Amino acid sequence: MSSPTDFIRSIVEEDLEANKNGGRVMTRFPPEPNGYLHIGHAQATAIDFGIASEYGGVCNLRFDDTNPTKENVEYVKSIEEDLRWLGHDWGSQAYYSSDYFDDLYGFAKKLIDKGKAYVCDLSPAEIKEYRGTLTEPGKDSPYRDRSVEENLDLFTRMRAGEFEQGSRVLRAKIDMASPNLNLRDPVIYRILYATHHRTGDDWPIYPTYDFAQGQSDSIEGVTHSICTLEFEDHRPLYDWLLDELEVHHPQQIEFARLNLTYTMMSKRKLLSLVEDGHVTGWSDPRMPTISAMRRRGYTPEAVNNFSRSVGVVKRNHTAEIQLLEHFVREDLNRRAQRVLGVLRPLKVVIENYPEGQTEEMEAVNNPEDPSMGSRTVPFSRELYIERDDFMEDPPKKFYRLAPGREVRLRYGYFITCQSVVKDEHTGEIVEVRCTYDPETRGGQAPDGRRVRGTIHWVSAEHAVTAEVRLYDRMFTDERPDAADDYNSVLNPESLVTLNSCRLEPGLADATPEARYQFERLGYFYVDSVDSKPGALVFNRTVSLKDSWAKAQKAGR
Ligand code: ATP
Ligand code: MG
Repeated sequence: MSSPTDFIRSIVEEDLEANKNGGRVMTRFPPEPNGYLHIGHAQATAIDFGIASEYGGVCNLRFDDTNPTKENVEYVKSIEEDLRWLGHDWGSQAYYSSDYFDDLYGFAKKLIDKGKAYVCDLSPAEIKEYRGTLTEPGKDSPYRDRSVEENLDLFTRMRAGEFEQGSRVLRAKIDMASPNLNLRDPVIYRILYATHHRTGDDWPIYPTYDFAQGQSDSIEGVTHSICTLEFEDHRPLYDWLLDELEVHHPQQIEFARLNLTYTMMSKRKLLSLVEDGHVTGWSDPRMPTISAMRRRGYTPEAVNNFSRSVGVVKRNHTAEIQLLEHFVREDLNRRAQRVLGVLRPLKVVIENYPEGQTEEMEAVNNPEDPSMGSRTVPFSRELYIERDDFMEDPPKKFYRLAPGREVRLRYGYFITCQSVVKDEHTGEIVEVRCTYDPETRGGQAPDGRRVRGTIHWVSAEHAVTAEVRLYDRMFTDERPDAADDYNSVLNPESLVTLNSCRLEPGLADATPEARYQFERLGYFYVDSVDSKPGALVFNRTVSLKDSWAKAQKAGR
């Protein structure tokens, strides 16, 4: 076997060599169903599922559903769908922390029995005040020395629903002077009258994250419990609980969270983008969620390649969003069919081209992959070109169409602009009159004369009209999280909708299975939500300009 590529794999390999856990590898991915998965989760799953499969183990999907007020089934479904799309396999069933509510309750009683947990009647504010600070030790709760009998009685009655929400909690009895705040008698159960999406109203008490996580890992037989760095300080508590309960003890290992420039990753903030109507939902193509990326046209391969390239990192860092986009382009470049489409159409009339004539021009489907073959696109007297590809009064270095200048139409002919037609009232150019050179079919002049520019076009009569949505970054600031209020750094142009784009006729049959490069414009993908037969909507997945690759080449 080749040597491990990162410190987590090193640990796993050492454990395998030492036959720890009987040679088993089991990881888990524990999303809380309180939002959709995002690109950070994709990174975590690449590690959790990736390591399990590389070492012949399994990775459990376990919903960490201990917060009934924020969680729901919509999120559970979306998480499963996204994981499947990413290609992850969690065996025959998903697990839920709520499956273990009985076991966890039993574990809590065991701690009470051992004198290692007590019911505390301090208010949440008092608990906080008693906890002390990083520089000052905490103070013991006046309820800390309750007898085992009294604690058992009170905890049983908490479970029976006898007390008001917030009136009491169960705390682990560890050390109020510990330098680690997580060990200052952490709360492990709280009273909460909330209907749970799986257990309904069965439970008026719920375990905290810290209490549910390690014990659920243990019940499932997890060997390596891989999580993000913010849990490093929780590891002593994780270990303490498992040791006191004398149960199977998985090893918690932390890696650094993924941060991305121009991106917010907190689910709470993403939910507020949705609730405040800045986006149309969790799957709005501007969101950093997996479902948004899927809808926008990213491929799972591109997302996974990105995750692999980031790898397992121990220190917090911020990846550049250009890197993610680079992987998307690299993948789409290989698989996307090239087509011609005009986003902002300008009519071109070729005066010397016979009226009523149509020619089928041969066009290559993908120069990167000859096996994808070719197709034909119709050419006729009236075409559309991109408004940007024409200038009435261009600077010298403008190599596209302008009065008196000649350009090549991709897969078509050379044309020369003779005149323009303007709207009488607005002065706007509404039509460009050109002539073509019949000798240049296919883009070469027999006399060897050259043109500097090649532009794309569609035949006006044959084109399909579609809506195209162009996306830009959601935020104008590289670090939206650093802003006091992210509203101040929202990009007002994150979405530009173009309603009358003209596309080559074959795109009338476009389906979300197909991926396209509109030549010179980027990669585009049929929007699965808003498209209707005869009224397709395309999302621009990503433009063609690869600023990341360019920067790499320049040796940055
Ligand atoms: P948030 O704080 O936004 O609610 P979370 O970490 O609570 O996110 P979970 O659903 O608990 O979200 O995450 C499930 C798993 O994914 C955890 O193991 C978590 O560490 C990991 N994870 C979450 N965000 C990232 C990220 N940005 N990079 C890498 N892993 C992440
Ligand atoms: Mg969490």
